[in-house]
Parts: sequence; structure tokens; C-alpha cells
Amino acid sequence: MKLTVYRRTTQAAFILFILLMPVLNIFHYDVDTKELIVFGNVWGLGLPEEFYTDRSITGSLHVALQFFLKAILPWILILSVFPLLGTLTGRFFCGWFCPEGAVFELFDFFTVKIFGRRSLFTKKPNDPGEPASNRMPYIILSLFCMMAIPLFTGIMLTGYFVAPRTVWGQIMNWDFTFGVKAGIIGVSIYLFISAMIVRHALCKYVCGAGLMQMLFGWASPVSLRIKADPAKLGACTDCKQCEKVCFMNVKPRLFRKDINCVNCGACISACTKELGKEKCVFSFAQSRHCPLPSKESFKKQENTPPILNNPIRDDNCEKTFR
Ligand code: SF4
Ligand code: SF4
Repeated sequence: MKLTVYRRTTQAAFILFILLMPVLNIFHYDVDTKELIVFGNVWGLGLPEEFYTDRSITGSLHVALQFFLKAILPWILILSVFPLLGTLTGRFFCGWFCPEGAVFELFDFFTVKIFGRRSLFTKKPNDPGEPASNRMPYIILSLFCMMAIPLFTGIMLTGYFVAPRTVWGQIMNWDFTFGVKAGIIGVSIYLFISAMIVRHALCKYVCGAGLMQMLFGWASPVSLRIKADPAKLGACTDCKQCEKVCFMNVKPRLFRKDINCVNCGACISACTKELGKEKCVFSFAQSRHCPLPSKESFKKQENTPPILNNPIRDDNCEKTFR
């Protein structure tokens, strides 16, 4: 439960941060003035206007250095964030911070309450529970969110390219330039479709940040991951709650390194609820502390849940951790 509260807090805080960055002048581009604003200051190459008139060696070196420091290095640093995160924390960012992931989870919640399944279209074996007995409040709330969230996000994210004051002024006067209209409508349509139809498939197959974390987390021997403790599996009641809470469709009891796991910890909370803190099968661990269990532990035992008698072995995991 605590994990869920922490996770919702980090997700909400990061959503606020992303939405408010342009308003607080932390980061945005202004197409009118053609200026990039970073922490309230104009970000430029730091070169005088007539810099090209100085053709000396020192002048050229100065231009090259400024270009590297102000234009290339920032991009290298930005692009290295997700490989670094993946190497150390796997897909932790996806599960604990990603604003889109949080929105997808919200709509998962609504479809579970209304239809008894996560997807609008198909039922999956790990869909949690039955629909709510009174579905009307969820239907009303979900309809409101379906319209309000994409529209509000579209308005806020357009502020990354057009000064937020300008966007707000156009909304107040109901008089839009093409850029503002395109920004708001484009983001709204994208978010509506991804939240309604695509959801976590986007995290698995499309999102570049997710893919980078996935690959580097998979290859790294020190990345964070969910460890199923073989010694505690005997206490497992096969309630399947750990699978039902997993919106990434991972089966955390299987002895393999599933690259789709976003380290959200929902399976830890579910198992703690079922077995108590001491007996909970799952915990966060570094990859190298997640060895595959011995062959003996795969043998059929009276108390062993059926799923464990037919584990899927992952050769890459085996190579990495043995
Ligand atoms: S396996 Fe557990 S930690 Fe990983 S995504 Fe599923 S619920 Fe979250
Ligand atoms: S590992 Fe825990 S949550 Fe999963 S089926 Fe067993 S008892 Fe239930």
C-alpha cells in the first residue's frame, strides 16, 4: 500500500513538473522570438553577432568550442539520461514517473471498473476482477477525463513552443493562430488515441525512452528488477494477484528476466497483502542478486504452485547471473 502511495505521489509530481515547465519558464521555445528559454534565460551559442568576421585560428576554435558546449553537449547529456537510467534502474522511470504511463493506468482503472477488463476490446487472463456494481459514477468520471485530460494537456504542452501567456490570451479571446490550434488539437488527438486504444502497447513497442531503458536494463548486471525469492515460493497460495495487478502483462513468478517489467512494485504490494510482509515472495533487487533457482526447485512438489512446474527459462538471464 505504501509503495502505491509513493508511486502515485511521484507520478503526480512529475506530471505537474512537465506541465508547468513552460509556465515557470524552466524550459520552452518561443516561435515568435525564436528563442530557447532555459531557467528564465535565453539559451544561445554565446557568440557575438558578427562572429563570422573573425577568421583567425583562435576565433574558429572559439566558435567550435561554443558550438560543442552549447549545442552538442546538452543533447548528448539529454540523450544519455535514459540509457543511464536503464542501466541502473531498469524501467523504473516508466513505472514511477512517466506521465503517459500514469494516464494509461488511470484509464485502465476506469475500464476495469466499467467492463471488468483493462482493454476496451479484449479480455485477458490476467484482467483483474469484475466490474463495479454501480458503474454509473465511473462512466461519468471517465467521460469527463476522456475529454478534459487530452484537451488540458494539449493546452499546457503547446506552451513548450508558443509563450504560455500567448496561448492563454488566445484561449481567453477565443481567437487562435494556426500554430496554437494545431498544437492543442494535435496533442489532444494523440493523447486521446494513445490513452483509449494503444495504452501500454505504446510503452512496450513504440516509446523510445522505454526501449532505451528496456535494452540497457536488460543488458546491465546492476539494474533494478523484481526478484522472486525461490525460498518463499513454497508459501505462495497461487492467488494470481501478482499477475492480475500487472498492467504490463508480466508474470513475475516465472524465473526469467522479463524486459517489460517497469519496476512499479504492484506485485510486491499484492503479494504482501496476500501473504504478509515477511512471507512476500517479491522484492526489489539488483540484477546480479537475482540468480535463477537450482534445477531441484523446478521439480514438482506438493506445495508448489502449478505455474512453477513449467517455468520459461531465459538463457540470457542464465548467462548474466550464473
Ligand atoms: S512484474 Fe511487478 S513490478 Fe513488474 S510491471 Fe508487473 S507488477 Fe510492476
Ligand atoms: S506470489 Fe504472492 S501474489 Fe503471486 S500468486 Fe503467489 S501468493 Fe499470490
